[in-house]
Amino acid sequence: MDSNDVRSDLKHVLYTREEIQQRVTELAQEIDADYQGRDILLVGVLKGAVMVMADLARALHSHVTMDWMAVSSYGSGTQSSGVVRILKDLETDLLGKHVLIVEDIIDSGLTLSWLKANLLSRGPASVEICTLLRKPHAAKVEIDVRYVGFEIPSEFVVGYGLDFAEKYRNLDFIGTLAPHIYE
Ligand code: 5GP
Ligand code: MG
Ligand code: MG
Repeated sequence: MDSNDVRSDLKHVLYTREEIQQRVTELAQEIDADYQGRDILLVGVLKGAVMVMADLARALHSHVTMDWMAVSSYGSGTQSSGVVRILKDLETDLLGKHVLIVEDIIDSGLTLSWLKANLLSRGPASVEICTLLRKPHAAKVEIDVRYVGFEIPSEFVVGYGLDFAEKYRNLDFIGTLAPHIYE
């Protein structure tokens, strides 16, 4: 592997492509069973959820539509504050829809807690959350997350949509960065 290879920046692999695909397929089966043939509006949160959205949508057998939101949470450095600004709103009217928010990772839960309340105010039939990763010990707010792919420790992870300074989103696995990258 040459030193220009993005993979040389990684310390170790947490979940391989195969493990992610397996888990996403299981989540899709659970979701299909729960929604019992009802149409689902998948709301992906840009940009991190792009990969999980693409794989989850393809693994679902339900009728789905997809829309996207971009939000930014104000805060110092890597800590989110819970103050959220909408950078790109949905194009879909949520009235009467079964909305499933698709996220890459929940850390404090502040962003999602705000987002769920915001979407609930638009008159949908339901709003649930699906996240690929969750850091459970960081939970600052009570938030009901129906579908969780993997519970992970409080470590900074990249890959499969997750970035560090906008890089590493394209990795097909999830891993941790080598210290020389962020120190
Ligand atoms: P919170 O749940 O704290 O409001 O914010 C979650 C957001 O913080 C995620 O959508 C993601 O953008 C970012 N984040 C939290 N933990 C990690 C991590 O381990 N790796 C990466 N790349 N982003 C993270
Ligand atoms: Mg996200
Ligand atoms: Mg990020």
